Amino acid sequence: MIGGLRILGALVLVLTSCSCSILKKDKSASGSQVRTGPNTDYKSPSYARPALTNPNITLPSNFSKKVGISHSRGNTTQPYIAMTFDDGPHPANTPRLLDMLRQRNIKATFYVIGQNVKMYPEITRRIVAEGHEIGNHTYTHRKLTILSDSEVRGEMSKTRDAIVAATGVQPRTMRPPYGALLQRQREMIMNEYGYPTIMWSVDPQDWQRPGVSVVRDRILSNTRNGAFVLAHDLHAPTVDAMPSTLDGLLGKGFKFVTVSQLLAMSEKSQ
Ligand SMILES: [Zn+2]
Repeated sequence: MIGGLRILGALVLVLTSCSCSILKKDKSASGSQVRTGPNTDYKSPSYARPALTNPNITLPSNFSKKVGISHSRGNTTQPYIAMTFDDGPHPANTPRLLDMLRQRNIKATFYVIGQNVKMYPEITRRIVAEGHEIGNHTYTHRKLTILSDSEVRGEMSKTRDAIVAATGVQPRTMRPPYGALLQRQREMIMNEYGYPTIMWSVDPQDWQRPGVSVVRDRILSNTRNGAFVLAHDLHAPTVDAMPSTLDGLLGKGFKFVTVSQLLAMSEKSQ
């Protein structure tokens, strides 16, 4: 019995010392073999401020109903433009876009879908907290031209209420999904909600995902003073195209304002 215990004890000793020696061996081996040369697979993210940033702009954004019912651009000879982003907020792409805009001191206008606002109220709050404007892009993104007046009112009201609940701020303009809205409906929405209908003057067709350089080049070659540029923060490739697009527009001397600022500017110049 005692002999048996001795044998067991010896076995434990052998096992313990054995595992120790393996550990020691491993340690010394890894210490001598690790190389700290450059890892070419990894690109560190750039948090440096871009070379060009938008100036601080304190133009008024209040306009009256006299501004007119429909707009596809602002009426200005100055190099002011409005970037507009539709169909968000999106849980990954919108925060990424907000970082890009903040780095460049650019204020944009987001035409949000009401049901997305309900899903992501904290991102909607961040949009407003960082100085951007929010517009009404309906609750369910249906084609409004085939809806009854009461259904159109439901789309507008539910979205307005979701935006106000999330941010405390009222939207002041609307954009119809697919750009589809009858003149009679535009008048009704202006009368009942005070929203001018906002279309666009630059459409890169980014929802077709033509690639980063195509989206950027279409925007850069078609943007003029007063432009409303249409893009969708729903799509990752659109957001991927934004750093070079925004830098290109800044490089051309454009200054970024919100849709309401462009409308207020247009009303004054009438
Ligand atoms: Zn849309």
